Parts: sequence; structure tokens; C-alpha cells
Amino acid sequence: MRIGIIGAGQLGQMLGFAAKKLGHDCFFLDPSTNPPAAVVGPVIQASFDDRVALAILAEKCDVLTYEFENVPVEALLDIADLVAIYPPPDALRLAQDRLEEKRLFDRLDIPKPPYRVIDSTADLEDALESIGLPLVVKTRRFGYDGKGQFILRHIDQIEQAWSQLGPGGLIAEQWVDFDHEVSIIGARNLSGDIANYCLTRNEHSDGILRISRSPVDEGPLTEQAKCYLQDLLEHLDYVGVLALEMFVSGGTLYANEFAPRVHNSGHWTIEGAETSQFTNHLLAITDQELGSTGIKGHSGMINLIGQIPDAARSTSLGYLHDYGKAPRPDRKLGHITVVASSATERDRWIEELRAFVTDSSTP
Ligand code: AMP
Repeated sequence: MRIGIIGAGQLGQMLGFAAKKLGHDCFFLDPSTNPPAAVVGPVIQASFDDRVALAILAEKCDVLTYEFENVPVEALLDIADLVAIYPPPDALRLAQDRLEEKRLFDRLDIPKPPYRVIDSTADLEDALESIGLPLVVKTRRFGYDGKGQFILRHIDQIEQAWSQLGPGGLIAEQWVDFDHEVSIIGARNLSGDIANYCLTRNEHSDGILRISRSPVDEGPLTEQAKCYLQDLLEHLDYVGVLALEMFVSGGTLYANEFAPRVHNSGHWTIEGAETSQFTNHLLAITDQELGSTGIKGHSGMINLIGQIPDAARSTSLGYLHDYGKAPRPDRKLGHITVVASSATERDRWIEELRAFVTDSSTP
């Protein structure tokens, strides 16, 4: 089949590699020159809201998907009668607005940190009064990797938070003093079958994912996470891969956000699972049976951010993925995955990798 992919970054590249193995051809749309996915298929160089370019892509392809979350939903709906689009644009619309996303969690009874809608500094004062400090103030739209956020630790910072993030729509939520962060990734195909991967534990710093480990023992929370994921997938009549990110605090899960796409915390599935998240996304959107999400061992993934140190290229530990991007501070350039025979061995390998990666990952 011919698969159209909006966005040609590293997620598009890894989708493209998986598509090739399944015998599909990929066509991409992306505004940048020579993006990572250009190595796996032709790229229409155009902005994500270029209606003409989107229509050209739609006409070329049997099915359309996206690897980038800030695609204008209106532009997608304009081409919806030309080609099937998965995941459904409505899931993207909800994920693009943190308030809509939280209201969806409310509807599905998925616990989340208390939050308030913020349209003025007075709203911030009210939120501070009712929720307490610290508060995380976030833009409703276009935030990613911790961007568009302000941690309000003191009442004196209200004006600063507002001038930094306002005057557009904001939300403020309770700062969760979490034990750790986890994500659950699952796929649902056109026939409604669901497959989910093991729970993944994630380490972030400065809002950017650094390390993922899977499987992890979270006791009864694993079943809980599976239920939340299933409720989301079914409610959204979802097709494709979805990632739900959560905080674990005092034995309870709190939803942070969901991503209607393949996700960085699922990169370990390329080597660590019977079927990768990329392959399962493609199987889901082409109406095939989903592949097994069984694991091949204890996986760990470390992101290479800012630069790829020489030691990462020469290490015999794990599988290096170099997305072929130019170095830039805070930019995800690649990752290394290890698959070990025990959690202890995996954690030891991750610490070995961390020693040279974090020292030099930000130039
Ligand atoms: P987000 O852009 O919402 O995914 O946030 C990026 C990262 O910031 C998360 O992965 C957390 O590490 C941190 N973060 C976001 N919201 C909160 C919160 N309410 N409490 C604690 N940490 C948070």
C-alpha cells in the first residue's frame, strides 16, 4: 500500500523503516529540507497547513497518518473525503488542547492532577488558593517537551507566569510530587482489536524524556493503566498507536497527557518487543491483525540529545539509532536501546550509557 505520513522527523523515519519491511511505500509531507524520513521515501516539502500539498499527498496514498501533533485539524478535515486518515482527527483535536484532554479524562473517570482554566491573573490567584503551591501553568496548545510551562512556586511569580505564557488560554494544575513517570502504549486496529505493551517507566529532565525502561513492576497499577488505555482507545474509536503518559504518586496513577501517535517512550519496542510500535501502528491503520506485543527481554532506551558522543558510536552496548539530524542543544538526535536478560543487567547497562551520554549530551 501507499502510506502518506504527515511529518518526516525521526518518528516518520522509523515508521518508514517498518513500512518498508511490510512492503509498503511511504510518502511524507514536511516543511524542512532533508528531514530524517527522506532516507525512506519522497518528501513533499510544504507547511503542515498547505491545503494543496496535503491534497496531493492524499491523492497519492491509500491511507494517511501523522507523526507530528501540531498538524492543523481543519486542514486534515479538508482532505478527509480524499483518503482515510488515522488516528481519527478528532483524537488529534482533543490532544492538541490540554483543557479538552483533561475534560476527556474527566469523562472517562481517569484520575489526573486537579486543574483550573486560566484566562487572567485573577484566575491564577484563584487556582493558587484552591489548589495550592507549587502549580504548573501550561499553555493549552502547542506545548511539547516541557515548553510552554511555568512552575509557579511563589505567589509573587503570578505576573511573571502570566507575562511569559499569556494572554492565550492557559491551564494551571497541581505539581505532582511523583515517585516516577510511566507510559502505556497500545494499538487498536480498524476491526477494534487492541494490543498493549508493558508499562514503561520514564525519566525526564527539563521536560525532555531521557530514559525509558520496560517492563517495570508496578503491581496492580499495570492493570489499571491498561483499563485507562482501553477506555481511551474505545471512546475515541481510535485506530493506530496511542501513548498515555501518567505520574505514579503514592500508589495512584494520575494521567498527564496522551499522544495520538507513536511515542518516544516506545522506541524500545523496535528491538525489545516481538512487534514494534511502528509496525503495529501500520498494521492497525491498514486493517491488519495486530502483532504480538510480547517482550524479548528487559529493555532500556536512552535518548541522545544535543549531540551524539563518540562513546555512543563506539560502545558495544545496545543498538544505536542515529536519526541523521544536525546537532543542536536539546534536540533529539538518536537513541540507544539495550535488551538484557534481567532488570538488574538492564539497569547496569543503562547506568554505563548514562555516564557518557549525560556528560556530553548538551553542548
Ligand atoms: P508535559 O509537556 O505536560 O508532558 O510535561 C513535561 C514534563 O514536565 C512531564 O513529563 C513531567 O516530568 C513534568 N510535569 C508536567 N506536569 C507536571 C505536574 N503536574 N507535576 C509534576 N511534573 C509535571
